[in-house]
Amino acid sequence: MEDLSKKIVNMRRKYREIFLTSVEALKQRVDEIKPKGLKGDIFDTFEKDSDGEKWQRAVLEMFENDISHEIVRKWNEILDFRKNFSCKGCATCCNLACSEFSPEQLKEKAKNGDKFATQFTSIFIPYESKEEAKEIYPEYIKLVEDTIEDSVYFYHCPKLTECKRCSDYENRPEICRVFPDNPLSILPESCGFYEWRLQVEPVALMLHSMVEIIDYYKQKIPFGKIGR
Ligand code: SF4
Ligand code: SF4
Repeated sequence: MEDLSKKIVNMRRKYREIFLTSVEALKQRVDEIKPKGLKGDIFDTFEKDSDGEKWQRAVLEMFENDISHEIVRKWNEILDFRKNFSCKGCATCCNLACSEFSPEQLKEKAKNGDKFATQFTSIFIPYESKEEAKEIYPEYIKLVEDTIEDSVYFYHCPKLTECKRCSDYENRPEICRVFPDNPLSILPESCGFYEWRLQVEPVALMLHSMVEIIDYYKQKIPFGKIGR
């Protein structure tokens, strides 16, 4: 098996490269609609109703409409492509669910109406210790811990039987029915969707980077900030 840390370093490097490519691609889209002869940068402050301000408005509209729609369309294509793969019943997602939130934080979120947290806390209980979780699938725990820089908490579902079956399959919540619905989730190699994730990862990372860059533009363009 490929060395885990090498895999993680590659992934981070890959994201950096994809991120820089997206920065350039979006900058090009921004520059393409810049009025001819206009001096200045998209992050400058321009006079009200000037060409510069109109450009900033057009850029924000382009992000809001064209580019956001493109991102949603591509994301849906990725999810559609998932239909070519299926669950192998390895039960890792039932036996080793991970979250960046502690049990207390999840309960609090559920109390405040968070749908995901409500479903999650209705089935999963935390492992007594990380060591206990590690006994289940040490390679996967290492991959999760090395990929996520913040704390990670591991949970398991008591509805899973010893022969790796769901004892309440008909009533399982939506989060179980749709898993994995995020191509950037960290999946174990034993998962039937692992190959799907591998294949769509570059596009998913590109879309993720575009969302991050667009947020940056939205925050930094003075027009957007002062809401003229
Ligand atoms: S409810 Fe069933 S499908 Fe959902 S995590 Fe528990 S055992 Fe798995
Ligand atoms: S980890 Fe993947 S293959 Fe394993 S039970 Fe969950 S969805 Fe199925």
